[in-house]
Amino acid sequence: KEELNIIQGALELRSKTVEDVLTPLNDCFMLASDAILDFYTMSDVMQSGYTRIPVFENERSNIVDILFVKDLAFVDPDDSTPLKTITQFYKHPLHCVFTDTKLDAMLEQFKKGKSHLAIVQRVNNEGEGDPFNANQHAFIITSKTVCKWILKTAIKWI
Ligand code: ADP
Repeated sequence: KEELNIIQGALELRSKTVEDVLTPLNDCFMLASDAILDFYTMSDVMQSGYTRIPVFENERSNIVDILFVKDLAFVDPDDSTPLKTITQFYKHPLHCVFTDTKLDAMLEQFKKGKSHLAIVQRVNNEGEGDPFNANQHAFIITSKTVCKWILKTAIKWI
């Protein structure tokens, strides 16, 4: 019975996609790319408690950068530094995946790469135009979310 549970769990990991565990962009704490790093914005970031903050341009679905909270270590709120100055300095690469990425593949990507947060794009099947429209960023997923899901599932297996 135990073996069966483990096999079932492993199969589940291969069949589940990131779509099953991601965080919608609506629930995501983000900053607009034209934000100014004054006292208010920096307090908001600190109070959010998140270590990685997606940065959007014009609309929330258009993520163009990621800000790491540690990038703010030498930023003085009294200088009112434009966020762009910081993001252009660090230029953290955006890690994008599609909603149908399997969780085991996602975990491998997180293990290999430096990034622990990926932007999840939905393939645009509706209407005409480019199916891989860049404006389709809709969710985020982090390595911790994937690991939490695996642990939760693993407890069921044993
Ligand atoms: P952190 O290191 O910032 O605490 P985690 O990787 O531990 O982030 O993720 C914990 C949860 O918070 C996950 O569900 C993840 O999707 C969510 N999360 C991470 N960053 C953000 C953010 N900027 N806005 C909203 N939710 C976030």
